[in-house]
Amino acid sequence: MTTPGRIEMITGPMFSGKSEELIRRLKRARIARQRVACYKPDIDLRYHRTAIASHSEQTHDATTVATTAHLKAELWPRMDEVDVIGIDEVQFFDEAILALAVELVHQGKRIVMAGLDTTFAAEPFGPVPDLMAIADEVTKLSAVCMTCGAPAIHTQRLGQSQELVVVGAAGLYEARCRAHFRPFLDEHSSEQLDLPAI
Ligand code: ADP
Ligand code: MG
Repeated sequence: MTTPGRIEMITGPMFSGKSEELIRRLKRARIARQRVACYKPDIDLRYHRTAIASHSEQTHDATTVATTAHLKAELWPRMDEVDVIGIDEVQFFDEAILALAVELVHQGKRIVMAGLDTTFAAEPFGPVPDLMAIADEVTKLSAVCMTCGAPAIHTQRLGQSQELVVVGAAGLYEARCRAHFRPFLDEHSSEQLDLPAI
């Protein structure tokens, strides 16, 4: 019988260092001579098509896939050559990612996933809450609140769009603590918040 693997979830708001932490773990696995395959959804093409990237400009090679089925089709032919599977921006995958993670862990693989726990409206994001529930280990990171410098658990969208997915980073989103998070206001102007200037 194959020894079961391990499911690791790295979560938190935007700018909390999820991609950095994923890249760090994958690089360490490679130092340990483990064979790594990394994936990301094709919704996030901000920086590279063939790599995941952090806001601090660290990168790791990755394959872009459209769906869980696409990821599986890409991975299956080389399953015997892969020990560790990394997935970034996992919140954008469909619910089938759960069954795939379970299937992979029973085949002895280590699966390290990073993704947003909540949307800009502070609601649980896609499959992430369920992945947190089935993981062996959950790492919940915080960012720095751009208003006061406290630990930030929220992703503040700047501007009026109510669409769930508006891909981007600086200028479109900001990390905020509970006190300074305003899900449904246009936050281009901090005066609206009646906050002390910093
Ligand atoms: P995530 O994948 O969670 O969005 P990244 O790993 O891409 O985060 O980026 C983390 C890096 O972003 C930090 O190391 C820091 O250099 C930078 N950064 C920019 N804004 C913030 C912020 N508000 N809080 C923390 N880090 C920030
Ligand atoms: Mg990231």
